[in-house]
Amino acid sequence: MGVAKLLFGLRTCQPHLMEDAVSRFDDGLRKAIEDIVVGGDPFFGDLQWRLASLPMRLGGLGLFLARDVGAYAFVASRAQSWELQDHILRNGGVVGLDPDYQQALECLNVSLPDLDIGGFSNKDTAPSKPQKTLANALFSKIAQSLGEAFDLSPRQKAVFECLKGPHAQEFLTVIPIEGLGQCMSAVEYRTILKYRLMIPMYPEDETCPICRKACMDKYGEHAVHCKELPGFKYRHDWVRDVLGDILRRAGISAKKEAPVNFLTDPTEGRSTLRPADLLVFGWAGGKHACVDLTGVSPLVGLRENGFVAGLAATKAESKKVDKHAKACAENQHVFIPFAFDTFGSLAPEAINFLTRVQRVIHSNCSTPKGQGFVFGRLGFAIQKGLAAQLVARLPSVLM
Ligand SMILES: [Zn+2]
Repeated sequence: MGVAKLLFGLRTCQPHLMEDAVSRFDDGLRKAIEDIVVGGDPFFGDLQWRLASLPMRLGGLGLFLARDVGAYAFVASRAQSWELQDHILRNGGVVGLDPDYQQALECLNVSLPDLDIGGFSNKDTAPSKPQKTLANALFSKIAQSLGEAFDLSPRQKAVFECLKGPHAQEFLTVIPIEGLGQCMSAVEYRTILKYRLMIPMYPEDETCPICRKACMDKYGEHAVHCKELPGFKYRHDWVRDVLGDILRRAGISAKKEAPVNFLTDPTEGRSTLRPADLLVFGWAGGKHACVDLTGVSPLVGLRENGFVAGLAATKAESKKVDKHAKACAENQHVFIPFAFDTFGSLAPEAINFLTRVQRVIHSNCSTPKGQGFVFGRLGFAIQKGLAAQLVARLPSVLM
């Protein structure tokens, strides 16, 4: 169920006639989502609801409110079909703006006071993609004012920035397929959504049930960093295995945990035989590539100000390059750092790598272009690995 079912009505009826239907639909949708995410527990508040209803590229779950879409759908639809209307009504004596449209335009002005909607009052100046223009304007405004509207804490602000990271929300688009590892239990999926919607999950100050050393905190910061199984090593291995499977299915020959005798830390000064997470054969100009996975948590050492989303992954990437790229090059190998963070956002080299894998898949089989299922699958793997960590440390009453 989604707003798509209502779209025709929203596009063709004046906004003020839809008010009742819109609020009833939104109330029902909120109840349904709340039930999925917290299942009767508290903490699904207005902030969580607002976040869930933002588009994915702005960090939301893409569950649009009818109220938001209703603010622009009528005007956009009219502006888009102007020529057609003129043609159909050419003998009807209707010229220029009708009061319906005028009224809807005034309503829109209330929702988007900063947007210059002057262009919409004339068919020669109306933007060519009114739907997109208005949706972008409205949702960008909502996202921008989120911090103020909800008086977000530094942590909340940081999480919101992370959710907007490159490819961070792509896992939401995957179709559940067991054989591809694209399945999660209800508890796992719910836990991931809670983590992203900043819903407290753990009792504060209780000892971690797995390592029995550290203290839990309500948002799961320790759970993400705990070293005991299933800890971040588990997540790392899981993501590596899925990446290996993506390569295999793309027809790219690769070996996981392949021993290469030059991947050593020069500061250690000794030859520790360190395997490459994935050794991809004949990747660039006939050279083999060592792919090195690094998962980081962007919220480590979060300070009041100066948080930059994506910085943790980019820093991890350049650290790995400093460490291994030279040794790889000297031994006729290419080094590819593959850094990602707990929210699923990817560092530039990882994006480049996956984009190229995607291209190989497109050229091998005739899948429709533009579908980024490689990113979705990898993103899902990151979240599934994280879910295992978070769920293992949940108090049993929540499971
Ligand atoms: Zn622990």
